[in-house]
Amino acid sequence: MTDKLPFRIGQGYDIHRFSKGRRLVLGGVEIPSDRGLEGHSDADCLCHAIADAILGAAALPDIGHYFPPGDPATKDMDSLEIVRGAVREAAKLGYEVGNIDSTVIAREPKIAPYAAAMKEKLAQALGVTTGRVGIKATTNEGIGGLGRGEGVAAFAVAILFARK
Ligand SMILES: [Zn+2]
Repeated sequence: MTDKLPFRIGQGYDIHRFSKGRRLVLGGVEIPSDRGLEGHSDADCLCHAIADAILGAAALPDIGHYFPPGDPATKDMDSLEIVRGAVREAAKLGYEVGNIDSTVIAREPKIAPYAAAMKEKLAQALGVTTGRVGIKATTNEGIGGLGRGEGVAAFAVAILFARK
């Protein structure tokens, strides 16, 4: 039996807490806000969930393995670079991204006004067309810490296909 498959599916999840005095970046897009997300990189949880979905599809370790938190090289890093890194790792195994889908959970900010710009940025980093990038959002209906607006979380799934 071989590990090589025509298609491979992966899922990713990430969450970051809000913090005063940080830039708010989601899906590679900076959103005007009086607070951003706490983290070692730019804390873009949508990018992190997508990168983990790609790495997971390839059965590779998660983004912490490739971009260790605490590494000076990843401090305030543009997380689109982490997405590009995941695509590169999958490519080394002979896979490319088919499409991705994602859900952002946030009481704020509103995602819809930025979704088109996020799709642009993510599609570029993923090396696919914008029509292969799904971004959906929910407020969590006031339930729990996410519902109270304490942070932002994201889920993503990715499908990879074997290069011809
Ligand atoms: Zn993260």
